Amino acid sequence: MHKYLFFIASFTISFLSCQPLYRSEPRQLSSKDIASQLDKTLDGNQAMESVRYVTQFWRIGGGPGFDSCLSYIGTRLHEAGIEKKSEKAFDPSSIGQYSIQEDQTNEKVWVPQDAVLSLEYPERRVLDSFAENPVMLCRNSFSADVTAPLVYVAGGDKESDYEGIDAAQRIVLCDAYPAQATYKIALQRGAVGVISSFVPPYNHPEQHPTIISENGLQYDAERKPFALKVSPRTAAELKRMLGYQQVTVHVQVKTSFIDAPLKTLVAEIPGSIKPEQRVVLVAHLDHYKPGANDNASGSATLLEILRSIALGIQQGKLPKPARTLTFLWVDEYQGTMLWMKRNEQVLHNIVAAFVLDMVGGNPEKTGGTFRVERMPDPGTVWFRPPEQHSGWGTGRWNKKKLFGSFLNDFYLSVIHDRSQATGWKTNHNVWEGGSDHDPFLWKNIPAILSWHFPDFGYHTSLDNIENISPAEMQHAGVSIGTASLTLALGTEEAAREILSQVAKAAVLRLEKEKPNTLLELSDAQAQGATALDETKKREREILEAWATWYEEALRSVLTIPANAPSEGFKKEVEREIQNHRKNVASLLAALGI
Ligand SMILES: [Zn+2]
Repeated sequence: MHKYLFFIASFTISFLSCQPLYRSEPRQLSSKDIASQLDKTLDGNQAMESVRYVTQFWRIGGGPGFDSCLSYIGTRLHEAGIEKKSEKAFDPSSIGQYSIQEDQTNEKVWVPQDAVLSLEYPERRVLDSFAENPVMLCRNSFSADVTAPLVYVAGGDKESDYEGIDAAQRIVLCDAYPAQATYKIALQRGAVGVISSFVPPYNHPEQHPTIISENGLQYDAERKPFALKVSPRTAAELKRMLGYQQVTVHVQVKTSFIDAPLKTLVAEIPGSIKPEQRVVLVAHLDHYKPGANDNASGSATLLEILRSIALGIQQGKLPKPARTLTFLWVDEYQGTMLWMKRNEQVLHNIVAAFVLDMVGGNPEKTGGTFRVERMPDPGTVWFRPPEQHSGWGTGRWNKKKLFGSFLNDFYLSVIHDRSQATGWKTNHNVWEGGSDHDPFLWKNIPAILSWHFPDFGYHTSLDNIENISPAEMQHAGVSIGTASLTLALGTEEAAREILSQVAKAAVLRLEKEKPNTLLELSDAQAQGATALDETKKREREILEAWATWYEEALRSVLTIPANAPSEGFKKEVEREIQNHRKNVASLLAALGI
């Protein structure tokens, strides 16, 4: 009995002094332990089944295809013990819950039903159809049923391209990207529609003559335009025929536009110690049909990560996270931003976000590799060796908006461990943007992208399931699951390991920058004193940017322990920061800048 009284007494004292009686540290599991556990349960073939389901639909946010895929994911979550949120109070014995966030948007939702492009003269035959290649129809095309002579316009997105060409009452075949400019000019010239054969260079049309790249029009209820796409092969054939005779085509398009809410599926495994803190994982579900790599693979792999973490917890093989794990299936960018808007009060408590976009490409088929797109660091602003771009494009990041974080080096080390252990080929590039990591980064929340590039099928009719690899989804799933669960557990042990990873990376970065600066200085030396002064100033700015970035990254490690970091650990972090400062100072001195 008294024990009990003693207990009440001592608990009250400690509660009042905010020193918990015992620290409820989550069970100590290293990232490697987590990875080997997830590797047993996460199944790339299961992910492949989800890719097979999702690629049946053109997934436009608010549209029936998108919503069918959300219901499919809901069913899979139910099977994994993740219940749909209801009025009933959360049952703490269940692993987690999911809900569907609905947002009204002002946008009309395009619903494609069918389209056929057929030759009428000099012979009758179908050239292509929506059933065969859905992306032969440009998004936001209005219904149409037109038979008209074809006229070829080289280019087509400039007035001057139409010099000497009569497009009145004709359908324009052009090479240009069928953006607003292209069809507006054509319609202003009296044309009744546009057919484009535009394919970006990174899709290698020279190697894939039947490829059709996906494009969309802006919603235009005034002109009610339609635009079709044809492959380089079909375009060449039509141009050849036009070279010596009249060609007439018949275009049939069946689409509709609806008003419908945009849905976002939010699934959560609540944290047991700091439920208000979150680690967020995001995959966009939307895109053209089939859109296997982009992004049925990300949506499917995210489902597998959640399923295998839930299973590990149910089996007692994995501890419940200390922080909440949040899984989002979104309409790219818009869904993420609507979730952030609806949850503004939790944003400051997001430790990190992991974005899955194109994680399933088979390197043997696509020619690409798995890539980590680092969150912005000075390598993004001052792009030079050893930095790389993916070949997709580049983004501009304001140097004043750089913020250091442990996330890049921590996640790269998880990826490195897996590729060492399995022979998995991986790569990384500086921030380029273009996916759901951006909305988090714009709010100064550390966010990192997992993807594949190059991929000749990217945004084309050839982005299909044949080019997807269950093994790539397994690798990506286990790695992202490991990194996110490590942060959701938030042990001081893990934080200590990450501190040493960041400290090592800081030293390595200074070593990598030194030859760059030496090269710049020797080049400038030859150009005289002014050039040398300017170069010294610029090189100092770059090195100080890295110095600041890594000092912030080292300090950000203090956000990892779910319980407040111990005094001892705080001292360790401070020590690393002092070491870093010394290294920077000695480098600047050695370079004489
Ligand atoms: Zn994508």
